[in-house]
Amino acid sequence: MATSEPPPKLFVCELCGLSSPFSYYGQKPPNTRAIVLLEECFVTKDPFSPDKEKFLILGSTCSVCSKCVCAGADCSLFYTKRFCVQCVNKHLDQFPHQIRAELAKKSCSCPCLTLRARSGRSLRADQ
Ligand SMILES: [Zn+2]
Ligand SMILES: [Zn+2]
Repeated sequence: MATSEPPPKLFVCELCGLSSPFSYYGQKPPNTRAIVLLEECFVTKDPFSPDKEKFLILGSTCSVCSKCVCAGADCSLFYTKRFCVQCVNKHLDQFPHQIRAELAKKSCSCPCLTLRARSGRSLRADQ
C-alpha cells in the first residue's frame, strides 16, 4: 500500500478501559469540509457509514489532569472544556447548578449525590 496514511493508533479510555483505534487527534478531522471541533478529540472514521466525511468522536483529554477519557457520559463531561468525571467530582462546586443536577440525576446510587440533586433543585426553584 502506497498510501501516506499512518497505521491506526489506539485510543484507550483511562477510566472505563474502552479502546479503539483512532485515525486522527485534533480539532479539524481530515476529509471534512467545514468541521472544526470545539476541542481536540480522538476521531475515527465512522465504520458504519460509506460517507468519508462521517466520523465518530471517541474521546478527548481532560483539560485538568490530561487523562484520556472517552466521550461517554460516565467518563467525561464537556462544559466549555473536557473534564473527566474524576475532575468533575473534585471541582463540582465550580460547575453551574444545572450541570451538577444533571450529574446527580445520572448516579442516583450515591446518597451524597442524591442530596446534591435535591439542593440543586431547590436552588433552581428559588430563581
Ligand atoms: Zn470511558
Ligand atoms: Zn481529569
